[in-house]
Amino acid sequence: MYTSEFAYKKATSIAEAISLLQQHPDAKLLAGGHSLIPTMKLRLAAPSALIDISKVAELRGVRKEGNTLVIGAMTTYHELETSDLLRQYCPLIPQAVQHIGDPMVRAKGTIGGSLAHADPAADLPASMLALDAKIKIQGPGGTRVVDIDHFFTGMFSTAIGDGEILTEVHIPIGGSAHAPAPARRMAYAKFPHPASRYAVVGVAVVVDGNNVRAAVTGAGEHAMRLTKLEQALSGKPLTAENITAACQGLLPPDNLNHDLVASKEYRAHLVDVMAKRALMQAAGL
Ligand SMILES: Cc1cc2nc3c(=O)[nH]c(=O)nc-3n(C[C@H](O)[C@H](O)[C@H](O)COP(=O)(O)OP(=O)(O)OC[C@H]3O[C@@H](n4cnc5c(N)ncnc54)[C@H](O)[C@@H]3O)c2cc1C
Repeated sequence: MYTSEFAYKKATSIAEAISLLQQHPDAKLLAGGHSLIPTMKLRLAAPSALIDISKVAELRGVRKEGNTLVIGAMTTYHELETSDLLRQYCPLIPQAVQHIGDPMVRAKGTIGGSLAHADPAADLPASMLALDAKIKIQGPGGTRVVDIDHFFTGMFSTAIGDGEILTEVHIPIGGSAHAPAPARRMAYAKFPHPASRYAVVGVAVVVDGNNVRAAVTGAGEHAMRLTKLEQALSGKPLTAENITAACQGLLPPDNLNHDLVASKEYRAHLVDVMAKRALMQAAGL
């Protein structure tokens, strides 16, 4: 199918993109286009204008600022996968993006597009929750930073307001300017949809000493923390016995997604299995 007609605008800076959004209130930002264009072709979205932010240089790249990694919204999956900084300080992200789609999707899709789109089966949201990311958002009213725990507000719905742009993702890596970041262990385990490769269920875990942060995607209307798992393992060594005992009945099936691929009950089972796989991998077991 063809999209409906739309005007095409190209922004060269964040300020210009915000100004264009004010001039075209029902416009959509165009990042990698790998969710937006299919949605438009299916006529599920018909914006009057697209504002292309792919050439906004200030939205691109990964850098380290003190004990935080700063990732520009337009950084592609391929750039995340091959980033030396991420491989060194945050290997969860390169690992998770390897699971996304195919090489074409990874060449064009962006971290900002993925998080702003908030597909309930997208891979990166679970990793962002496990990593305790902060999301920087800019708009006509200025700049604000939203904790990832408050960013996803529903299915395909986030804390980004009208006229605003997700500009950066901040990942705390621990340590300080004078002390090295402590070694954290992290892993992502995914059960992919057999056709689309999206996550039927994907679990990301970050282990910091005896503390675990864990999150799941694909199970509910948006990615969410696995607090029962976090509490069950808090202060305990990551042994196979402790992991196995903790990864049972993590989410009640009642409110989980169900479709042709997986029932609620099967998804609940997959959450336990993927959580155990991710933790075993993070623990080196
Ligand atoms: C064949 C195929 C397979 C795929 N498989 C997977 C998979 O396995 N796992 C997975 O996670 N994803 C998968 N995807 C989706 C892919 O990851 C998308 O690229 C991603 O969801 C959206 O990123 P994008 O840069 O393409 O955003 P776009 O499609 O350009 O934009 C998506 C939405 O976000 C908005 N937006 C974009 N950037 C910003 C910003 N900076 N600030 C505010 N709003 C913004 C847009 O206006 C639009 O509404 C797949 C896609 C395809 C086509």
